[in-house]
Amino acid sequence: MVNTHYHADHTWGNCFFPGATIVSHARCREYLTEYGAPSLETARRQNPSLKQVRIVLPHMTFESGELTLRVGKKNLILSQAFGHSSDGISVLVEEDRVLFAGDAFMPLPYVVDGDIDDMLTSVKKIGRLGLENIIQGHGDIILRGEIDAAVKENLNYLNNIKKLVKAAGKRKNAEEYLEEITIESCGKSRVHLGGLAETLHRRNLRSLHQKMNGK
Ligand SMILES: [Zn+2]
Repeated sequence: MVNTHYHADHTWGNCFFPGATIVSHARCREYLTEYGAPSLETARRQNPSLKQVRIVLPHMTFESGELTLRVGKKNLILSQAFGHSSDGISVLVEEDRVLFAGDAFMPLPYVVDGDIDDMLTSVKKIGRLGLENIIQGHGDIILRGEIDAAVKENLNYLNNIKKLVKAAGKRKNAEEYLEEITIESCGKSRVHLGGLAETLHRRNLRSLHQKMNGK
């Protein structure tokens, strides 16, 4: 099993694969050790079905560079893909040029728990890999013919929000200015992610405003 990052929807299933060796970035293991149990406890109060879940920590981690695993006749190349979080990794099935991107590639890039410049680096790198498919952490599989446009669209969105939040920082009415920045004006549609895109877009703007403008 590979945990692409520590977020609940990417790690809390570990316990349903007893005996599996779980691999992640070293920081993923650290974050799960620190935040896993308390956030599971909080979530359980709202969702009793989480009773069956327990936190299982990764067994094998790497801190820098890449980790190549030979599985059957395939090479799996695990490498850093930060931006959505600072422990993100992706898995390239080398022979097939298929990339499991984790949340470093989503229909709407989400950087609240990460760093926008790291995300730009990750998306650019993904665009240069010469891929057949991208398996996104959320959303549809991206086919070869769609990859260039998807990469361009994500880079465009990230550059747009960065530019607009910077502009907001110079204004007295920064909050109102931010309110008016629609997802469409940043080059994305709100129908992505089952209608959640607009909410994620708002959160991106607010967290960037905090990080870039200290507000
Ligand atoms: Zn995530």
